[in-house]
Amino acid sequence: MATDAGLSSPCNNGTTDWFRNQLPVTYLLFTTRGRITRSEYAHATVLIVCTFYVLYTALYHTAGAWSTWLLYPLLYWSAWASACKRLHDLNRSGWWLLAALVPLFGPLYLAFLLFLRRGRRLDNRFGSSPLAPIDYRKNDDGIPHATEGWVINDVTQLNPITVARIERPETVEDLARIVASTQGPISVGGGRFSMGGQTASPGSLHLDLRKLNRVISFSPVEKWIRVQAGIRWCDIQRHVDPHNLSVKIMQTYANFTVGGALSVNCHGRYVGLGPVILSVRNLRVLLPDGTLINASRTENAEIFFGTIGCYAAIGIIVEAELDLVDNVVVSLVQRKLPRRDYLAFFGENIRGRPEAIFHNADMYPPEFTRVRSVTYFATSGSAPADKRLMPLRQSYPAHRYLLWSVMEAPFGAWRREHIIEPLLYLRPQVHWRNYEAGYDIMELEPASRSKNTWVLLEYFVPVGRFEEFSARMAGIFQRHRVKVLNVSVRHAMTDPGSYLAWAREEVFAFVVYYKQKTDAVERGRVAVWTRELIDAALASGGSYYLPYQPHATAEQFHRAYPDARKLFALKARLDPQFRLRNVLWDKYYSPPATTSP
Ligand SMILES: Cc1cc2nc3c(=O)[nH]c(=O)nc-3n(C[C@H](O)[C@H](O)[C@H](O)COP(=O)(O)OP(=O)(O)OC[C@H]3O[C@@H](n4cnc5c(N)ncnc54)[C@H](O)[C@@H]3O)c2cc1C
Repeated sequence: MATDAGLSSPCNNGTTDWFRNQLPVTYLLFTTRGRITRSEYAHATVLIVCTFYVLYTALYHTAGAWSTWLLYPLLYWSAWASACKRLHDLNRSGWWLLAALVPLFGPLYLAFLLFLRRGRRLDNRFGSSPLAPIDYRKNDDGIPHATEGWVINDVTQLNPITVARIERPETVEDLARIVASTQGPISVGGGRFSMGGQTASPGSLHLDLRKLNRVISFSPVEKWIRVQAGIRWCDIQRHVDPHNLSVKIMQTYANFTVGGALSVNCHGRYVGLGPVILSVRNLRVLLPDGTLINASRTENAEIFFGTIGCYAAIGIIVEAELDLVDNVVVSLVQRKLPRRDYLAFFGENIRGRPEAIFHNADMYPPEFTRVRSVTYFATSGSAPADKRLMPLRQSYPAHRYLLWSVMEAPFGAWRREHIIEPLLYLRPQVHWRNYEAGYDIMELEPASRSKNTWVLLEYFVPVGRFEEFSARMAGIFQRHRVKVLNVSVRHAMTDPGSYLAWAREEVFAFVVYYKQKTDAVERGRVAVWTRELIDAALASGGSYYLPYQPHATAEQFHRAYPDARKLFALKARLDPQFRLRNVLWDKYYSPPATTSP
């Protein structure tokens, strides 16, 4: 039976953990970003006034009247920050507070806005409504361009692309009709968490597939689920968890759509698995001429292998049938060790053990000579009911603070390695597989991305060449002084045949999370060391991941993906007008001369 995943309750297991989901005080008082309701604003005001009164009295009587001046910056900042968020709830900028300067009418009108005017339940340019149930973070619906069209950007905010218009089909028939009844370039977006313009092309018709999000059929007994492509992993988790089942392969975070995840051929931290294609039974694909076609390893195999991992080069995934596995309780085992010992450690303790479910090894910057192996093993023990699905929060101020302090504060990396992580890992961690696969990208979101942004990169090398690539990678980071937060190593088995397979044999994936400035000079610098890393991966017999910034030269792209030419030949046949586009294909694909639009 079909169910609309997008309309159910949020992915937090309906927990009544009221306090956990409330706004943390730091968010309420100190940031100007986001939205708060009338009642939250009233509570914040009472809190500010009472705290000020208590602190003022205490300071006055203990340190003297002069010391109370210290409190005023805090008072004004918290009053300003909470009022800004309240105005955002009314879709007004914080600058409206300047209305207080207009005698009499200004303060009265502001008081009306801040305390009495109700915010709308709809998303606005300042974020989602605080009255809406908490959900996994989503990207915007596109921002109107100053003159014409819409700006599509991704989570890094580095790749604004102006498309001509946006359509949001809710049924496969709608989508097929749009494609068949239009001409010209089309770009396809899912969650829009890829980081290099893979979801847009200038002047294209952008198809936002997030409303194509239904579960079509589900067999708990045979352990498979058939879904529309715009559904997110968190929606599937919510659907299958009551049957004690889990998604077999997905990314670490649950915000992504199935269509986007299949299109990049994602992987997670699973042991003995690898690219998501290993869990796909079959697909239904819409071709650029409006034809719908079924594809699997045995039926229309070239469409199957030219679609998964191929970034909407030849068609749009509308449905996918995916394997499920049993949901199990997992328990954390971690250990720090020298990098040179990791390969042997992995071979002896992790590889080939069916009870090892999730594994990654974090390399510590700036030396990258020590790793912490983090493995979740299936256990026969039990886990509390509130550890079935990840509880969500409005914001993650503690994560944000840690991110900032590790990168920016003195001795941040040292404190992370020697104090913060050892303390965090003291606590036993036992929870369900779905919980461990349910992280929200919001926890990585910095306060602002205007001057600096956080970006991912990823490289794959054959298992035996772990040490060789690690040393090359560390040298490049050190030489270019790259601000790396973490390199997370994962393991993947061989891809069965995607035309853009990144795992042509058993590999380790090196997932790099780093910080960069957003200006043009820094972008140029990043392109230089990124290309060096790609060369290093190629020299170690490996490859690099395509959903991130497309800095690779055409020559590097073709060396990393030798079957791209087969894909391009298929594209020329199925998409002769070069309708399906995005930044990748605009950069690396040249349509045959006679068929260009
Ligand atoms: C914080 C973060 C963590 C990440 N962690 C991981 C990880 O652990 N493992 C991993 O493998 N990747 C990871 N990624 C990368 C992520 O898997 C990709 O960016 C993925 O594409 C995101 O899915 P999406 O729905 O946002 O896709 P989008 O970014 O919307 O789309 C990606 C590509 O898929 C195409 N596409 C989207 N929908 C369809 C469709 N229905 N049919 C055909 N093509 C389609 C788009 O045109 C685009 O080319 C991470 C990214 C971020 C930002």
